[in-house]
Amino acid sequence: MNEKRYILALDQGTTSSRSIIFDSDGSMKGIAQMEFPQIYPQPGWVEHDPKEIWYSQYETAKQAIQNAEINPSQIAAIGITNQRETTILWDKQTGEPVFNAIVWQCRRTSDFCAALASDPAVSSMITEKTGLKPDAYFSATKIRWILDHVPGVRERAERGEILFGTVDCYLLWQLTGVHATDTTNASRTLLYNIHTMDWDEDLLDLFAIPRSILPEVKPSIGFFGNAKIELFGCQIPVSGIAGDQHAALFGQACFGEGDAKNTYGTGCFLMLNTGSNPVTSKNGLVTTVAWSRGDKVTYALEGSVFIGGAVLQWLRDELKIITSAPEADIIAASADNGGVYVVPAFTGLGAPYWDMYARGTITGLTRGTSRANIIRAALESIAFQTNDLLTAMQEDTGVPFTVLKVDGGASRSDVILQLQADLLKASVDRPVNTETTAQGAAFMAGLGVGLWKDEAEIAAMRRSAKTFAPNMDDAARTALLNGWKTAIGQTLYKG
Ligand code: ADP
Repeated sequence: MNEKRYILALDQGTTSSRSIIFDSDGSMKGIAQMEFPQIYPQPGWVEHDPKEIWYSQYETAKQAIQNAEINPSQIAAIGITNQRETTILWDKQTGEPVFNAIVWQCRRTSDFCAALASDPAVSSMITEKTGLKPDAYFSATKIRWILDHVPGVRERAERGEILFGTVDCYLLWQLTGVHATDTTNASRTLLYNIHTMDWDEDLLDLFAIPRSILPEVKPSIGFFGNAKIELFGCQIPVSGIAGDQHAALFGQACFGEGDAKNTYGTGCFLMLNTGSNPVTSKNGLVTTVAWSRGDKVTYALEGSVFIGGAVLQWLRDELKIITSAPEADIIAASADNGGVYVVPAFTGLGAPYWDMYARGTITGLTRGTSRANIIRAALESIAFQTNDLLTAMQEDTGVPFTVLKVDGGASRSDVILQLQADLLKASVDRPVNTETTAQGAAFMAGLGVGLWKDEAEIAAMRRSAKTFAPNMDDAARTALLNGWKTAIGQTLYKG
């Protein structure tokens, strides 16, 4: 009998764990999701209990299998995608975490990072080797904090008794007993050299981290280990791992140099495939491993917008001028901005401006400004910020792109996507399946076991739901871009 084969994608996010079963046509067959507690020990600090992470992931995996009404033996492979940079240390023998997971958002090491950043030689060494900046987001300073603050852990680590992993690695270890990670997750630690594709001795020295705690780094696509028989009643190979944004780029089938995706969520996350070339940005963007298979490494440029869909939450919760994001969308569809620009620099401005002291502004207000103008301008800010990032990426690479693939909650907005296409002078493509992160992990795992043979076969499974073509005359476009530029000028910190 020719039994149908499926892929189980584990999507471990910051606030919830999700598991999705995909069939061999790339369609979703079952899904389960579970939230877990956020731990805030003090302002700016964020932790998770690693056991809650594992429990919620394993439980949702079992539920998704049930919901899909399949037998675990029909699962050809498991793919893992995860919240990135979050740091876990555990005992090699007992598996007991030595401390809570320090989450990517946690700012407890920001003073140390600021000290590193203030030394130009150290800062440029870090950027040259890792493609990143010395920032508290990334894992290295979180590892160092645990080694230095949890009694006895550094000594135990020196004796080879402690293991470190990002969330993918911790889940893989729970599933298979193998201590390994993939190149994309390694590339977010500040310890991994993205040119030599190995842990870097200079960086290990700088952060005082013993090499013995680090996992083996494997290609994102390929065999990592077999899930233990007692978990699902049969052995299932784990054959694809990537951080969430990398998996989304893969799930959007952005396989060619110049292909880009934007995730419009609370914040926006943009990634542009730069092929085999690790492009160094002149505009403050990060260089990262997009994914790897065998010896072939694909790189990407990455940038983020701090306040994306969150600007609508602000209109709803603080200004109380809308009751929901979809309402904003309806109002914005029937108005123009009336010369108003909202720059939601609530926590400063990221790339390409990098002004942490900037704060939000609304410009162009007149006696005639209406609620609809302000709502429209707030929505437009999402497209303007994304346009700034993509323009910077194009400058850095010199590669023009023709289509932006989109996902995330705010990509439901036709208003945002049409304006995005107009500003970029490129088409914007929203897929049928916006679960692109889990889909990317499934695609990688399926490729890893040969369920699909190549990228072309995968690209054919991605279906577009709606495409937005540029449709604005140059004069109108220039006027909008000039208005935005002026508003940014008025937002930047003047001391
Ligand atoms: P995250 O994964 O970052 O939590 P989501 O991908 O779920 O976020 O997206 C949530 C964001 O999408 C919210 O900030 C919300 O304002 C925005 N959003 C939801 N629906 C719409 C809509 N119809 N139009 C515009 N924005 C929307």
